[in-house]
Amino acid sequence: MEKISVIVPCYNEQEALPIFYEEITKVAKQMKKVTFEFLFINDGSKDATLEILRNLSTSDDRVRYVSFSRNFGKEAAMYAGLEQATGDYVVLMDADLQDPPALLPKMYDAIVEEGYDSVATRRVSRVGEPPIRSFFARMFYKIINKISNADIVDGARDYRLMTRQMVDAILSMGEYNRFSKGIFGWVGFQTKWLAYENVERVAGETKWNFWKLFLYSLEGIVAFSTVPLTIASLFGILFCVIAFILIMIIVVRTLLFGDPTSGWPSLACILFLVSGIQLFCMGIIGQYLSKTYLETKKRPIYITKETEQTRKRKGKK
Ligand code: UDP
Ligand code: MG
Repeated sequence: MEKISVIVPCYNEQEALPIFYEEITKVAKQMKKVTFEFLFINDGSKDATLEILRNLSTSDDRVRYVSFSRNFGKEAAMYAGLEQATGDYVVLMDADLQDPPALLPKMYDAIVEEGYDSVATRRVSRVGEPPIRSFFARMFYKIINKISNADIVDGARDYRLMTRQMVDAILSMGEYNRFSKGIFGWVGFQTKWLAYENVERVAGETKWNFWKLFLYSLEGIVAFSTVPLTIASLFGILFCVIAFILIMIIVVRTLLFGDPTSGWPSLACILFLVSGIQLFCMGIIGQYLSKTYLETKKRPIYITKETEQTRKRKGKK
C-alpha cells in the first residue's frame, strides 16, 4: 500500500493540535487505499506542544515528530518535514486547520487518477484580513510574477500534496534562505490548483504581523529575482544622462549669458536626491550581499533536539 506523509509545522499550537489530530485521523480513516504517517515538526514551541506530540506518538504508531532546538521558522520546519518524510506522497498542512484536511481525498485522487505531480490550494477570498494587508499582498504577487520566473500564484497556500519525485526535486534545492512559495513554482511539474474560501484558524494566534509579512515578501523577491540589481544600474545610467544634459545646458548658458552665480538651493536639493538614490541602490546590493553571505556559511537549516526515535531509545536505557 502507498503511504502519505502529512507534515505539520507547529509553533505554540497546544490549543489547535488536539483538534487537528482529531480531524486528520477522521480523514485518514476515510481513505482506505493508503496508509498514513503524521510527521509533526515542533519549531521550538514554548508551550505544551512537545508534550502533546510525545503523548500522541506513544498512543498512535503513525505519529512521528521532530523537535527543534529553538524556533527556526516555518520554512525550516517544512524543509525538515520534507527531508524526514518517508511517504510516497507528501502533504504540507498547517496545524490550525486553515488548511482543511477534508480536501485531502480530492487532492489524492487528482494525483493518482488525473496524473498530476502535485495538487496545491489557493484561497479565493481574503475574508477576515485587514484591507491594507490584502492590498499589499496583491501588489507583491503582481510584482514578483513580473520580475521572477518562480510563478507564484496569488493566494497560494503552502497546503500541497506532492509526489515523491517532486519532493526530491525540492530537497535538491538546498538553499539556506528558503522561500517555499517560490521553490514550489520554480521546480516546475504539473500542478492542479484547488480554490477554497478562506478559513479562520480554529484556536491560538497567528504568528504573522504586517511588518513580518513585509520583510518576508522582500526576502521572496531577493531569493527569486535579480531585477532590483538591474534597477540600481538603470538608476545609475539615468542619472548620468541627466547630468550630461545639465552640463550641456550650463555650458551653453554660460557662453551665451556669462556666469551669474546663483542656485545653491537647487544644488543642495540635487545633492540630497542623488545621495539618497545612491544609498538606496547600495541598500539593494547590500540585500543580495547579505543573502550571499548567509548562503556561503552553509549553516544547517534546522537543528534537531528530539524525535520520537531518540525518546524511545532513551526510555529503554
Ligand atoms: N509556524 C511554525 N514556525 C513559526 C511560525 C509558524 O512552524 O515560526 C507554523 C504554525 O504553527 C502553523 C503554520 O506555521 O502551523 C502557519 O502559521 P500561522 O497560522 O501563524 O500563519 P498564518 O496561517 O496566519 O499565515
Ligand atoms: Mg494559520
